[in-house]
Amino acid sequence: MSRRFERAVFLDRDGTIIEEVGYLDRPERVEFFPWTIDAIRVLNRAELAVVLVSNQSGIARGFFTDAVVDTVHQRMDDMLSTGGARIDAYYYCPHHPDGSVAELAKVCDCRKPARGLVDRAVAEFGVDPARSFVVGDRWLDIGLARTVGARGVLVRTGYGEREEGKPPDGMEADAIVDNLIAASSWILNNL
Ligand SMILES: [Mg+2]
Ligand SMILES: [Zn+2]
Repeated sequence: MSRRFERAVFLDRDGTIIEEVGYLDRPERVEFFPWTIDAIRVLNRAELAVVLVSNQSGIARGFFTDAVVDTVHQRMDDMLSTGGARIDAYYYCPHHPDGSVAELAKVCDCRKPARGLVDRAVAEFGVDPARSFVVGDRWLDIGLARTVGARGVLVRTGYGEREEGKPPDGMEADAIVDNLIAASSWILNNL
């Protein structure tokens, strides 16, 4: 059984933890921001579950396979552990309604902003979404926060700077900050 946590920080991957490079199809293309390891270590020390939640429609589109994504996450895990940081779970949605891989081309309950990936963390770690946080560079990440009752932090890395200027109707982030290390600070100040 997994370790239990009261709260989680749900982290988007592309543009939030690592540089946005389009469809990431090779582990060699993983590039952390200079502050990524520190930002995640701070969250680990605060006894927050750190859970990656990522839409990977490239799998449904046939651009790469689950095995490639797993290799990418293994490489991230190796880099983090070198710096004394840890992601407690790597969850991703492989689906997309317009996909070309038949069994993955569908509307699912795990593509953000739907809540399926968060519900996995509830089942695995016992976290309370209402006391948790979502950090991402897209409004759909903030939408996920709204869906599950968590607080949502938009970062300006990745697509974030562009996204900041065009929020969907009625949507507001709890905070908009420059990057992941600023998001970690905001979270620690708002526990
Ligand atoms: Mg992103
Ligand atoms: Zn899905």
